Amino acid sequence: MKNKHQGQLRNFPQMICFRVTRNCNAFCRFCFAPQGGLQPEGDILRQRIDWLLTHGVGTIHFCGGEPTIHPCLIQLLKYVRDRGGKSQLTTNGLAVSDKLVEVLRETNTRVKVSLHGDREHHNGLVGLDGFQRTVNSIRRLLSAGVRTSVQTTVVADGMWVVDWVADFCLEMGVNRLSFLPFVARGACNENYFLSDTQRRTLKDMVKSKRRLLSGRLDVRWLDFTVKPYLVADSDGNVVLEGKTRNVLLEIPETKV
Ligand code: SF4
Repeated sequence: MKNKHQGQLRNFPQMICFRVTRNCNAFCRFCFAPQGGLQPEGDILRQRIDWLLTHGVGTIHFCGGEPTIHPCLIQLLKYVRDRGGKSQLTTNGLAVSDKLVEVLRETNTRVKVSLHGDREHHNGLVGLDGFQRTVNSIRRLLSAGVRTSVQTTVVADGMWVVDWVADFCLEMGVNRLSFLPFVARGACNENYFLSDTQRRTLKDMVKSKRRLLSGRLDVRWLDFTVKPYLVADSDGNVVLEGKTRNVLLEIPETKV
């Protein structure tokens, strides 16, 4: 069925989120990508990368689900580099192998790791005991010279994480930190919902942290309800994701 937003995309942005899988090895209570979804084969993903690069996209931002669980991720990173593109990766940091760290460095990939607060808070949000693995991945990426930043989803009963994660980044030598106010989509804990007042308070907290740490830590505010982002989804559709998900077009399949 045609969506009212279909066909609205005229120019591609420089960077697009490229969803290689909808599956994940975590169980975040606020997840956008339901488990058990599509995970296309490497050949199909390569065709889509070709199509995107020839349509003006310069940077393929690998995302999921959890992109590190796709068996072809390493080959895909190299493929983007060999085709003259740039790459980025967002990961929960639970399954970052030594080989992947090496390829991320070789391909000059910028990596964003999701860390949502201290051990108890982070583990509670991701639904498993993964805090230490994620912290270890951040440490390994940084010491390998991979450009690594942290992103933190902030929920209503966890606004204190702004201070905690900023201190963590300073201590670890991370130089960029993005705060994502929780976006309500699908079923989730009602304690996560940010009221308008809480969202404004949180934004102000992030703004003062940015001012305070200027020159030491690049603190960012990413509110997807205000600024939706473009995703090449695992089903082959290009969609605009924010509060809602709108299909804009379908990447045509080509024969191998
Ligand atoms: S790590 Fe990302 S994809 Fe995985 S469950 Fe959490 S939010 Fe969803």
